[in-house]
Amino acid sequence: MPTLNLENVPTKLFIGGEWIAGSNPDLIKVTNPATGEVIAEIANASPEDGRLAAEAANTAQDAFAAMPAQERSKILLKAHALLLESKDELAAIMTAEMGKPFAEARGEIDYSAGYLQWYAQEGLRVQGSHGQSPSGRGQILLTREPVGVSFLITPWNFPLAMGARKIAPAVATGCAVVVKPAEKTPLTMLFLARIFQKAGIPAGTLNVVTTTNSSKLTGPILEDGLVRHLSFTGSTKVGSILHGQCSKHMIRTSLELGGNAPFIIFEDADLDKAVTEVTAAKMRNMGEACTAANRILVHESLADEFGTRLAARFEQFTVGNGLDEGVDIGPMIDQTSCERLQGLVDNAVAGGARILIGGELPEGAGSFYPPTVLADVPRDADLTSQELFGPVAPIIPFKDEADAIEIANDTEYGLASYLLTNDLARAMRVSGRLEAGMVGINTGIISDVAAPLGGVKASGLGREGGVLGIDEFLEYKYTFIPND
Ligand code: ADP
Repeated sequence: MPTLNLENVPTKLFIGGEWIAGSNPDLIKVTNPATGEVIAEIANASPEDGRLAAEAANTAQDAFAAMPAQERSKILLKAHALLLESKDELAAIMTAEMGKPFAEARGEIDYSAGYLQWYAQEGLRVQGSHGQSPSGRGQILLTREPVGVSFLITPWNFPLAMGARKIAPAVATGCAVVVKPAEKTPLTMLFLARIFQKAGIPAGTLNVVTTTNSSKLTGPILEDGLVRHLSFTGSTKVGSILHGQCSKHMIRTSLELGGNAPFIIFEDADLDKAVTEVTAAKMRNMGEACTAANRILVHESLADEFGTRLAARFEQFTVGNGLDEGVDIGPMIDQTSCERLQGLVDNAVAGGARILIGGELPEGAGSFYPPTVLADVPRDADLTSQELFGPVAPIIPFKDEADAIEIANDTEYGLASYLLTNDLARAMRVSGRLEAGMVGINTGIISDVAAPLGGVKASGLGREGGVLGIDEFLEYKYTFIPND
């Protein structure tokens, strides 16, 4: 059994290269959602502390931009090595504050380390271009410069990866940052800040403010134009508020927002493969992922058999404290989340859905929700338009390809989508019609450090990861050089 050691987790704010208590005496109580116990009490930044962090980043910005890319790359590589060395220690901390099983927390650390490595390399290859004006007047030089101080706001579901995916390209390009992790999972980010400190990140280039006063802290930073770029991962509701606040000073925005991913299973699909891939797309991180399959669209000829097999697979899951041996499904982030899930399940059942497994909130300590499969879910059930963010798989039968595409696109979101078929022409045709930033063909796992992740419609703006992810942190500058 992994041991939880909180000794190396900082409990203060990281501002200007120092660990400071901040001006707010009310601490943040961090709880373990598996037990309800308070595991740590840490600094709770006031709006003034947030401003100090933004000012520290501004002070450090020019020197960071001027630092050779190779030096910044070395810091990322050092942090990469230190992160992997601390894997078990940090995984236990992440599990204790967020709930995911220990093995998944270890996996998230590998995934996050992958971003540090990827951008350590990508940062060495930032290049502009050069061209001749066809008029013969002169030459057109395009250079790339860091966008400047970036404000990074991250969610609780992947407390490390969502931060690493933003911090790595920022460091690679020379953008000083202020990071505001989610108040439910601040320990992982504080631990990462300490790793960067050990890796030699210059004072003020990485600042971390943990707070329960998110809106009071972030609003003034954005509205007073203290930063040049906001990179946010979280709900569409909050993303939209922040986008509005950024408009005043035309702050660059990169927004990774909510999803409502369809997973389409066509009539030629192999059912065993369908169960494996839907399970991966649904149950990774207990379903608490914006890329999680939210609606399982199954051809009507297979829907019953698929439901029976999926329920049999879900029966094999062990639900419990993520730090316990053999647990596959940890708790939901909090009790509110469990109650919201139950409401959505009850609403679907009232509309005619059948529960094949799960569907009932258990008694007792911890925020647990059982793996649940719902068959014959009506197309207008509330859960078809809202993010479930939990281990609930609703099966919606469809008639034909056109019907499947229509249901799939009938949402304001456009993040991930998945389809399963052995017909290549159909796979490409349907993939082209899906209103989504990402499509998984015959797979339930699409996250990859080398891929540009992001959405269309209400799912956001911009891309993170891969070659494109670095663009969010860079500006173009065009210089004209006359020929005479
Ligand atoms: P979720 O529903 O997944 O918790 P949120 O969008 O509420 O997603 O939270 C994502 C991040 O945004 C968290 O760090 C949270 O503290 C922060 N946040 C929430 N509300 C606001 C707000 N009004 N202004 C700034 N940040 C916010």
